Amino acid sequence: MANPKESELHYTLGDAKPALGQVLEVAPGVRWLRMGLPFALDHINLWLLRDELDGRQGWSIVDCGVTNEATQAAWEQVFASGLDGLPVLRVIVTHFHPDHMGLAHWLTARWSTPECECRLWISATDYNVARLASSSTIGMGGESAAGFFASHGLTDPEALDKIRARSSYYPSMVPAVPARFRRLMNGQTLRIGGQDWRCIVGYGHAPEHIALFNAGQGLLISGDMALPRISTNVSVIDIEPEADPLSLYLASIATLLELPADTLVLPSHGLPFTGLHQRIRQLQEHHDERLADVLDACMSAPRCAAELLDLLFKRKLDLHQTTFAMGESVAHLHLLWLQGQITRRIDADGVIRFSRP
Ligand SMILES: [Zn+2]
Repeated sequence: MANPKESELHYTLGDAKPALGQVLEVAPGVRWLRMGLPFALDHINLWLLRDELDGRQGWSIVDCGVTNEATQAAWEQVFASGLDGLPVLRVIVTHFHPDHMGLAHWLTARWSTPECECRLWISATDYNVARLASSSTIGMGGESAAGFFASHGLTDPEALDKIRARSSYYPSMVPAVPARFRRLMNGQTLRIGGQDWRCIVGYGHAPEHIALFNAGQGLLISGDMALPRISTNVSVIDIEPEADPLSLYLASIATLLELPADTLVLPSHGLPFTGLHQRIRQLQEHHDERLADVLDACMSAPRCAAELLDLLFKRKLDLHQTTFAMGESVAHLHLLWLQGQITRRIDADGVIRFSRP
């Protein structure tokens, strides 16, 4: 959902952005690059941090881009001209989604030597979900996802067939996951090139998303937890059908208000910005308004998630967007349901409907 109050934020670097295969320094030792994506969201921001590890000079990569030849070619350009001739020492991944995790297998193999493996650093939960999702269809399409969407009122047979057929969605962008990893946890501090970066866990978007905060330089690598232009996707998916990710997400972003107001946020999508506190408040308001709309709709009649798409999204959605939107619609209903503001029942047609008690 586009941010109508984007003008309250400040894009301190103007609209400068690195060209494909190029890097742009955003702070001493911190370089920004962008890779293309095969979805409506057309790019991802990745970061290079000047580092020293096990007595070797080089770079840490934060997030990877999806697996395809164009992204690999762009990385080769970066290796040739953006690393000052130094190697990549480790690959840090904020969360398991394909645009972040995709090329971790290739990057770590590309930079491992017989003496020293280039290690993947990631939360244990996201590492294990990535391994499962890469080698199966869990939560990413297929029969289980189609059944889940149908139970929330998605009836279009064509859409359901497409969801059934989409079982290789995750493996197509993340065909492999490194066999070993190093675990990131909330509160842990990473020493990267003479700077301390603190891991801040976030829930609701991914199982155990890790953002990185550097107090010395006033930088937050926010991953997908705080984006300037679009709201973070917060969805219930078939593998955990009674989940309440929106409560988790709102609690997580509230903790980011403890960071300094002038923090420069380095998001995974969009441009670096200041105005973190405004952005968190905007997101809180956005969800409060959606929740009030959903509650209102459930006052007049029992509602299923599919019926609320028009109310929540007010634009035509393609199939990819419809699956995300369904997950978001269920997330809003579940927050209200699990707080006891609405109740749910499973009707004779197998559809779950929510209403005021
Ligand atoms: Zn994500």
